[in-house]
Amino acid sequence: MHDAGCEGNDYFKCDFCRQPWSEERLMIEGHQGSLFCVRCLTPAYTSVVLAKEGEEHRDRKCVMCLEERDQPQWESPLYAEASVCLRCIKQAATVFEKDPEAEWKRPGPPKQEVGDGIYT
Ligand SMILES: [Zn+2]
Ligand SMILES: [Zn+2]
Repeated sequence: MHDAGCEGNDYFKCDFCRQPWSEERLMIEGHQGSLFCVRCLTPAYTSVVLAKEGEEHRDRKCVMCLEERDQPQWESPLYAEASVCLRCIKQAATVFEKDPEAEWKRPGPPKQEVGDGIYT
């Protein structure tokens, strides 16, 4: 979102955590100035893509693409009115992964402990 009451980096705030833009908090822009930061992407990706916890909200629009989709969405734990759809989460993941400044890596599935690593 764009915060008209602030200037500079503070003008740009993530819709999901409402923290201002910074070098450690790169953001991707959606429609109508909505913003999704790299810090929120990790829990969103983990929850919806890996754990498949996302819920479908047919009557709710994704703040990034402004579409109502029959797709799981991630809801901000802080601001329930902000939700992002699976497609936009994946799109953001692709963008941040390619951006060296974002230093973002796709979270993997929980690692399985493999004994002492000794195989016979
Ligand atoms: Zn955020
Ligand atoms: Zn979307």
